[in-house]
Amino acid sequence: MTDAALDDLYREILLDHYRSPRNRGRLDAPTASADGANPLCGDQITLDVVLDDDGNVVDVAFEGSGCSISQASSSMMTGYVKGRPTEEALAGVEAFQRMMVDGDPLDEEFGDIEALSGVRKFPVRVKCASLAWKTLEQALTAQADQADPVTTDERSMTT
Ligand code: ZN
Repeated sequence: MTDAALDDLYREILLDHYRSPRNRGRLDAPTASADGANPLCGDQITLDVVLDDDGNVVDVAFEGSGCSISQASSSMMTGYVKGRPTEEALAGVEAFQRMMVDGDPLDEEFGDIEALSGVRKFPVRVKCASLAWKTLEQALTAQADQADPVTTDERSMTT
C-alpha cells in the first residue's frame, strides 16, 4: 500500500470511531473514574471503569468532547481495554505511549489503533491521541480519593 493510501485508510478508521464512538456514556456504578483534559486543544474526557475483584476491567465507558483525534482515540482505547486485567491494560498504555513518542510498532492485538500512528507526524496532536490513555492510567492507578484530573499539558507530561 502506498503512503497516501495508508493515510486514507487511517483517516477512515479514525472518522468511523469519531462518528460512532464505542462505549460512550457513563456507567451506573464505576469502581474507578478519572477526568482528563488537553487544554492546548480543548479536549476533555471523563472515564468510568468497573474492575472485578481480580482487577479485570469488566466495563468501561467515556464521555468527552474535543477534536476527532482525541475522541477517536478514546473510543479505540475503551475497545482495547475492556476485558483485560489491570496490569495488561497498563502495559497497553505504555506500549501506546512508546508508539506515539518513539515510533515503536504496536502488537497485532492493538488492531485498528495502529491508525493513530499517523498522528506522530503532527507533534501537537500527539497530546490529543494520548489523552484517553493517560486518563485510563490515572483511573487504574490512583486512589479514588486522591485522583487529580489528568492533563496532557507540557508541565505534567512525564513520558
Ligand atoms: Zn485535540
